[in-house]
Amino acid sequence: MSEIYDVIILGAGPAGLAAGLYAGRSRLNVLIIEKGQDGGQIAITDEIENYPGQIVEGESGPSLIARMTEQAEKFGAKRVSDMIKEVELEGEVKVLKSEKNEYRGKNVIIATGAHARPIGCKGEGQFRGKGVSYCATCDANFFEDFEVYVVGGGDSAVEEAMYLTKFARKVTIIHRRDELRAAKSIQEKAFKNPKLFFMWDSVVEELEGDDILQAMYVKNVKTGEVTKVEADPEDGMFGLFGFIGTVPNTKIFEGIIDMDERGYIKTDADMHTNIPGVYAAGDVRVKSLRQVVTAAADGAIAAVQVERSMSDYF
Ligand code: NAP
Repeated sequence: MSEIYDVIILGAGPAGLAAGLYAGRSRLNVLIIEKGQDGGQIAITDEIENYPGQIVEGESGPSLIARMTEQAEKFGAKRVSDMIKEVELEGEVKVLKSEKNEYRGKNVIIATGAHARPIGCKGEGQFRGKGVSYCATCDANFFEDFEVYVVGGGDSAVEEAMYLTKFARKVTIIHRRDELRAAKSIQEKAFKNPKLFFMWDSVVEELEGDDILQAMYVKNVKTGEVTKVEADPEDGMFGLFGFIGTVPNTKIFEGIIDMDERGYIKTDADMHTNIPGVYAAGDVRVKSLRQVVTAAADGAIAAVQVERSMSDYF
């Protein structure tokens, strides 16, 4: 029979690592399980300017997350790399199963975050990794001196488009409306960037190419006109980045935990889900603001709730 942890945290993004830090400092026996690299979406974010107290010029997602990981481990959070495929959450001891292992905990904090929403155009799957990407930090250098298009109008699309201008010779944001959703401070910087252009009221309908992305059909939603955008013949290809929001990583909890219609987990203000001993923190839960600071705060609250539920003092 495997060890029974006081709390198992699923996911090592800002929410999971903050929960690990607080649980570790409370002397709980804590295990953090992460399937890939630490940091979740923040690991693929180039620049962070709005985490309070974080004033290091050019702080990147990976550098911030590396310090969060180190801090959680310093206070005793144990780590394992594994992908949980099945969960049994009812009862006093929760069981999390991967292909080869089973993990047991008295409490579980779900901090599995969210992933990029696909653009939803024809041919998208075929050109993934062959022109289509959802991570500027990962793939920008493949487009050194090429033309790049970015779909979306939120903070992510505009910030990542600006990052891409450091590599690409021209970056065009394709947005379905005629005004951006991004914060005004971000918009101000974007409109001043000489390498950044906009295609308003437009959606990408279909992608084409011989193996790599060479053309796409873009529809103007106001006029109905469809334009074929082709790669510069000298380049032979272009890049298309999608930043149109996220989808929660909650598939394994479907039918088990209460969620909203989009699959985000419902919690109360103290991160309790509908199942006793099961908490959700960060981007994975229903909330109005998905930021590093709110994810970290959720993680801290969830860990303190676990501590209180296990302590005689409260
Ligand atoms: P978001 O704010 O939800 O924006 C998504 C964008 O994609 C919107 O402009 C939306 O258009 C567009 N869109 C959605 N579905 C689409 C579709 N099917 N086809 C075409 N366009 C579509 O997502 P996000 O930018 O990823 O940001 C997520 C959260 O993280 C937000 O709370 C954001 O503030 C936060 N964030 C903050 C920072 C920062 O503070 N520095 C950086 C990154 C992210 P409409 O505008 O027409 O709806």
